[in-house]
Amino acid sequence: MKILKFGGTSVGSASRIKKLVSLINDNQSKIIVLSAISGTTNELVRFSNLINQNEYQSAQECSQNLKRQYIELIDELFSSNEYKNKGEEIINHHFSFIDSYNFKALNLFKEKTILAQGEILSTTLFQHYLTECKIESVLLSALNFMRIDENGEPKQAYIEEMLSKELSQYQNQTIFITQGFICRNSFGEIDNLKRGGSDYTATLIGAAIKAEEVQIWTDIDGMHNNDPRIVENTKPIENLSYDEAAELAYFGAKILHPSSVQPAKEKGIPILLKNTLEPQKKGSKISGQTQGSGVKAIASKDNITAIKIKSDKMLMAYGFIRKVFEVFESYKTPIDMITTSEVSVSVTIDKTDSLIQIVNELKNYGEVEVDENLSIVCVVGNFISESKGYAHTIFQSLKDIPIRMISYGGSKHNISVLVKTEHKNQCQLLLNEIV
Ligand code: ADP
Ligand code: ASP
Ligand code: MG
Repeated sequence: MKILKFGGTSVGSASRIKKLVSLINDNQSKIIVLSAISGTTNELVRFSNLINQNEYQSAQECSQNLKRQYIELIDELFSSNEYKNKGEEIINHHFSFIDSYNFKALNLFKEKTILAQGEILSTTLFQHYLTECKIESVLLSALNFMRIDENGEPKQAYIEEMLSKELSQYQNQTIFITQGFICRNSFGEIDNLKRGGSDYTATLIGAAIKAEEVQIWTDIDGMHNNDPRIVENTKPIENLSYDEAAELAYFGAKILHPSSVQPAKEKGIPILLKNTLEPQKKGSKISGQTQGSGVKAIASKDNITAIKIKSDKMLMAYGFIRKVFEVFESYKTPIDMITTSEVSVSVTIDKTDSLIQIVNELKNYGEVEVDENLSIVCVVGNFISESKGYAHTIFQSLKDIPIRMISYGGSKHNISVLVKTEHKNQCQLLLNEIV
């Protein structure tokens, strides 16, 4: 069985949805994971924010505009009046539900329920389209099997058990459709796998059923060697190892959700990145094999905060770094980069909701400096230790950029620098010369 995930742009219009049929109708067993139609999740986030700001009139306009786009889409998607009417009923039902939250204060749970409507709508409409095309399929609700624990981590054993129960009810079916992104949390409430989470749904399902392959279909022909939103003439990379792809996803290559490589890596399932608009193009294959050496790609992550703790007590002392790290651990705040000197340690974080508390506690151990609006620029590749010159080449390219921190040697696949965000684009352009 294969998993095919189609992102928001791949289902972004009636003509794009129609094109998917030729990609899925081949008699092979598959689970199709769909994102919300492009723009929907952003609009539902905006709708929720407007309600929270008591801007009920603007919230209503926001949902009405979105609803209008769906009505136009189904008019073009379905050929018969019967299915146009069914489509309209589905849209009316979901938008009445969404609108029922307007004029009320929202909590996080209600907001997540509103966001979930995007993926529920896209999958329901897609299944109706397949039915109109006389293609049999089964719509599985991800809310019945996708679950996260109290730390927001997927419960892999639960997902495996519940998904196999769902699938076992339909022995003779080959096409299954389900929602990306959405899940339930440990209280059974509707939750999600964070923005861009449909990729993660696809690899979690892939791992749960030990799929032959996970295909991520999007609007670009694979993982490119630099960020196409910043640099012109970037090129797709044909083969990447799980570790290389995970570093790129974690450090900002938006094509993949940061956690999505892990489940596939654990089960050794290849991930194929493909372009829905140009399906004949090779795309990128992510697998256990590392091919070639040297720099392969550049990515970057914004909204980074650096924290420096300076203390004479660190001199010749042991246990100092442990105490510092325990502060971050107690606030469930992951650290990305670390550098140390004899009397200080600098770390970077991107989750800043507990920054004030962290800084207050760190002050028990020394002087604390906080630096915001930074970006990590990450050079990914296969940097085998016997080969010389990678660091020289990278820093030669960046010789005119003020660098705040450097991370080299932590892994064979990543050399990272921390710079002010205002210098990030220039770094990506300069480093483009060496990929
Ligand atoms: P989807 O809606 O299909 O999930 P996304 O917008 O999440 O698509 O991801 C695809 C986008 O990722 C591309 O259009 C591209 O602009 C962006 N992107 C950023 N970095 C990279 C990269 N290194 N390679 C390919 N795409 C990238
Ligand atoms: N619809 C969700 C989002 O926009 C999930 C996804 O597209 O992967 O973040
Ligand atoms: Mg995405």
